Amino acid sequence: MRFEFYQDYGYFIIIITNQAGIAKKMYTEKQYEDLTSWMLGEFKKKSINITKVFHCPHHPSYSDCSCRKPKPGMILKAEKEFNLNLSLCVLFGDKDSDIEAGRLAGIKKLIKV
Ligand SMILES: [Zn+2]
Repeated sequence: MRFEFYQDYGYFIIIITNQAGIAKKMYTEKQYEDLTSWMLGEFKKKSINITKVFHCPHHPSYSDCSCRKPKPGMILKAEKEFNLNLSLCVLFGDKDSDIEAGRLAGIKKLIKV
């Protein structure tokens, strides 16, 4: 099932994204925020409501953090903020680091796309 159909079953859709380009100064936090706002607007046009986007602006070459996938920090932050039951969540990811972050956070249903 495609991720957007989950909202019809009452799931929140939350995006968890590594944005090391910020640490690498390839783009600014503001440019990232502007692109994210545009993206959320595009989803909204298709009636897809993204509850929140969590991003990690770090890269291990510049600083250490607990949020960059495959670390589970952003997922655990979402868990706290939205009182999620992670064992009932579904994670879609296109990279092994996405799947690993979900596994470390305790998400059982992990879908590599
Ligand atoms: Zn981080």
